[in-house]
Amino acid sequence: IRTVTGLKPETLGDLKTVIEYVYKEITHLLDSTNSGQEGSYLDYESKALHAGMLDHVAMEVADIAQIVGFNFPTSVADTPLVDMGWNSVDKSKPVILLVGHNPATSCTLIDYLRENGLYDKVEVAGICCTALETTRYSDRAKIVGPLSRQLFFIRTGIADVILTDEQCIRTDMPIEADKVGSRVIACVDKVMYGLDDATDWGTEEIVKQMVEEKKHFAILDTHKAAEVAAKVALAIAPQRRKEWLTEEEATELAKKCTHCGMCERVCPNLFAINEGIGEVAKGNF
Ligand code: SF4
Repeated sequence: IRTVTGLKPETLGDLKTVIEYVYKEITHLLDSTNSGQEGSYLDYESKALHAGMLDHVAMEVADIAQIVGFNFPTSVADTPLVDMGWNSVDKSKPVILLVGHNPATSCTLIDYLRENGLYDKVEVAGICCTALETTRYSDRAKIVGPLSRQLFFIRTGIADVILTDEQCIRTDMPIEADKVGSRVIACVDKVMYGLDDATDWGTEEIVKQMVEEKKHFAILDTHKAAEVAAKVALAIAPQRRKEWLTEEEATELAKKCTHCGMCERVCPNLFAINEGIGEVAKGNF
């Protein structure tokens, strides 16, 4: 911030001056892309580098604002360690999955769970940047993984409710959620998936439709989105099946293996998959 703008922020309000500079410059940059009007490759590359620089200034603003606003830990030695990986998610509890890039919704959700005695009863997990930010607010939240694990995890059906914000989220989220019975709430107007905007609806009506009619909604009020997510997850979790396969189903599937070895050929870790499938086929888990 100081290198680019010469400003040393002392208050949150000072960050507004910085972010307004970034907005202005980005608008100019977008303007310069119209009809390829920049005739010099050198000047064009300069603009590209300028965009990258602005991104870093904005990221610094965002991180300082989050540290101050949400009391995120900074470089302190006793910052708690958190659990990572999809298997760290406790699927015996109602699971709320947050996907995207900013922590506004997730921090509000954690507050709601804490204030309503649900902190131990509902599992909160995240994918991508939102996951990292959420664990800076609650060391009980789980990091499923990066963007590349998104489709895999959603298809496991472990998430009862999926809250999306922006950027690192799939365009087919409601479609994939429908396949496994998860419910989606779009929390930011940058991505609404064509869903009905229920922001001004009563909470109970939204919950009713999501539970009984399996609907997804856009809810652009983070407090309402958090309350709805918790209530829907608690209501639908007991009825949803979250095991991929029973041991009997796995055994039957494994019996179909022809031992062609193709899976081992493409496995980047050279695991003995063929042999493992053979053991499963014998019921040896
Ligand atoms: S599990 Fe592996 S060895 Fe068995 S059929 Fe599939 S690719 Fe071939």
